[in-house]
Amino acid sequence: MKGCGWTDYSAPLDCSWTWKKIVQVKDIFKTGYHNNSWIKNASGYSIADGYNWLRTSHPKVPWHFICWNPLNIPRTSFIYWASLHKKLLTRDRPVQMGICSDTTCCLCATVPETHEHIFQDCDFTRNCMTLLQQKIQVSFPIHDVIRWFSTGRCKSSLQKLFAGACYVGTIYAIWMARNHARIHQAVIHPKVPVHQVRKEVLERWKRRNRKPLRPLDTQWFFKMTM
Ligand SMILES: [Zn+2]
Repeated sequence: MKGCGWTDYSAPLDCSWTWKKIVQVKDIFKTGYHNNSWIKNASGYSIADGYNWLRTSHPKVPWHFICWNPLNIPRTSFIYWASLHKKLLTRDRPVQMGICSDTTCCLCATVPETHEHIFQDCDFTRNCMTLLQQKIQVSFPIHDVIRWFSTGRCKSSLQKLFAGACYVGTIYAIWMARNHARIHQAVIHPKVPVHQVRKEVLERWKRRNRKPLRPLDTQWFFKMTM
């Protein structure tokens, strides 16, 4: 870079691929400078500033908390995200594509299988959610769950985190139960996924948490883990 300023520097043709990439990134970031000063912050450039400037800002989606809750098991977050965007291969989709003609729900075998049905209205799902709420001692409305978790009041933040992770885990478990039913023509009892989800979330919380329970949560936690 001898003999020229960092903003004017270009990578030589015979340099390595890595150096060319570094110089490309430099060229992107130089537009964030004015008179050799970082435009976003008078006290100078920081990695956090640069990251936020590069990615630009977007409004927070209402399902942010529930989908990216730190207590969520990662694989459950992915299936929940896919269900939100209607990306799972429910039976209505192959029918629309002309691949098959059977749309019946694999879990209740009564109505066509859509995302809305399988994750909200199916009897299997309703039974799972009722059992879950009884087990974890937190109630939330299944048809308005995103608004409840993003704005609704809960007794404590831990109970809300725990309930959110269990809800997302149950959505995952419902999808797995649906796949099991499709392949084996047998529907598992709702108690099985609910028990498994609560156990997994509890284990994750124990691994991550180092602080003692607040008095507000002690009684709830004792009842919930019985
Ligand atoms: Zn159903």
